[in-house]
Amino acid sequence: MAFAILNGQLIDRSEAKVDIEDRGYQFGDGVYEVIRIYNGKMFTVNMHLERLAKSLDSIGISFPFTEQQLTEMLEMLIEKNNLQLGIIYLQVTRGVAPRNHAFPAEPVQPMLVAYTKQLERPIHHLQNGVKTMLVEDMRWLRCDIKSLNLLGNILAKQKAAESGCFEAIQHRGQAVTEGSSTNVFIVKNKLLITHPSDQHILRGITKEVILQLCREHDISIEERVFTLEELAAADEVFLSSTTSEIMPITEVDGKMVGNGLPGPITRKLQAGFVQEIEKQCGAL
Ligand SMILES: *Cc1c(COP(=O)(O)O)cnc(C)c1O
Repeated sequence: MAFAILNGQLIDRSEAKVDIEDRGYQFGDGVYEVIRIYNGKMFTVNMHLERLAKSLDSIGISFPFTEQQLTEMLEMLIEKNNLQLGIIYLQVTRGVAPRNHAFPAEPVQPMLVAYTKQLERPIHHLQNGVKTMLVEDMRWLRCDIKSLNLLGNILAKQKAAESGCFEAIQHRGQAVTEGSSTNVFIVKNKLLITHPSDQHILRGITKEVILQLCREHDISIEERVFTLEELAAADEVFLSSTTSEIMPITEVDGKMVGNGLPGPITRKLQAGFVQEIEKQCGAL
């Protein structure tokens, strides 16, 4: 039997149901996290729970659990579900209340849901790279919140899927922002460039790990806005996320990146990332 967490309680996954007036269901009024599990252990869990706290704070949801309590709950969930390699999906909504755009006048209990999924590492794509396409960024101006409102992201990803692409790279005019659920990096003359973590993108935990790896491996990095032109002229391009790790991009909008093979800096960062996983979670 598979288990899920519903408001702090471990229950049978098939019994985990929410009310039709849950504000997450009606308004997307909530936030979420995806945490990677390797060898039954959570990777960078503290960073995820800190970001969750920030997302909740920025939309005015006061969360009933401490980071410690939540960590223990998630550890129990992993153990009960006997999960070795996969993810935890975790979301918190403002709760259940009669439908009205404004927050409930009487505060309601936020709704926490968490469950696990088995998921392999995307080894083939990590080795060979993926194709991407460009899509105009149609999202709102608080992309720094990991919100359940994902229509812009979904429509971008669907365009990519229909074109046989792994990811959509979004841009606001000439400025490249990020993928539909990933951060994007380019390499030019050994310099790594990625969009700064402001309100236009989601501050990826994988991105944060990459920035740390760059400091440790003396790879120069600039966090600044880069253009479509710079993307087209890049030596290497890659994307990052919890489930995609550090994934080489070998094609953008039908044009080959560099020589069409994953580049040396991408490879170096991938190796460093695996070391970091093994440090926290044991040998892969
Ligand atoms: C979650 C997400 C990312 C990647 O963040 P990670 O913490 O590295 O998984 C990037 N962009 C968007 C829009 C996201 O929702």
